[in-house]
Amino acid sequence: MNDIDFECTECGKCCHDLRLALTVTEAIAWLERGGRMELICEAIPWPVEPEPGNAQAEYKRARSSPAMSGSLPVRISIVLAAAFEGACPNLRADMRCNIYEQRPLVCRIYPAEINPFVELAPQNKGCPPDAWQNKPLLRQGVLVDAATVEQIEQSRRANQLEAPLRMQVCTELGLNEAALANEGFVMVSPDSDALLSALRKIHASGQSQDAAAQWTFVSNRTGTVETLQSVGAAGHLVETSVVGNARYHGFFPPS
Ligand code: SF4
Ligand code: SF4
Repeated sequence: MNDIDFECTECGKCCHDLRLALTVTEAIAWLERGGRMELICEAIPWPVEPEPGNAQAEYKRARSSPAMSGSLPVRISIVLAAAFEGACPNLRADMRCNIYEQRPLVCRIYPAEINPFVELAPQNKGCPPDAWQNKPLLRQGVLVDAATVEQIEQSRRANQLEAPLRMQVCTELGLNEAALANEGFVMVSPDSDALLSALRKIHASGQSQDAAAQWTFVSNRTGTVETLQSVGAAGHLVETSVVGNARYHGFFPPS
């Protein structure tokens, strides 16, 4: 088990070129400040429920919503992401956060990990070498700061509780295409006003749909589409990476 020290140098590097996963309330606030959001969608084939005790599957299940793709049961994972190229719109010239007291949970938690299956590794973080010293961050693999532990719990709870609401937002916006999990993402940049209005409506009602929605897989690989279709799923090839306001980001070259 590892010990890690850390003290933020306020270099501002972690506030650039990001997709920040937000809660519904944070997403509403982000849009109200004029920020841009994306919905990042992936679909996991889920023909049968996993055996009890499969912690990774349970984690995925809790953060996704049931749906159908053709006749194949799937789970859809949707991330509400604040998106920006270059500096965050809230980053000041002195590298301080302009919304420090209202900054999203994910910003408060960094560089700790939210996903319990991802180990915190300094080499995977954008922080400079001189940040990894001075104050205890991890002792024997356990986070030292109680506030960060609570924020991680809060983030995980929101991610789980809001999964049906994120699905409802997609339904409201007519979004029903996702990449195959671990092969890519579909990233949609909806009209900000339409997204804000859908989020406000869903947040106010707190209701989610009952019927499992129909979703379609998209892929840049012919073999993937054919395999999915052979098991009853709806899927098609993406010819270009950008279609309308949606972008397919594949992890593998087209084939
Ligand atoms: S909201 Fe603040 S802390 Fe979060 S990325 Fe933007 S500037 Fe950085
Ligand atoms: S990259 Fe690391 S050291 Fe730099 S501001 Fe972000 S958290 Fe602090």
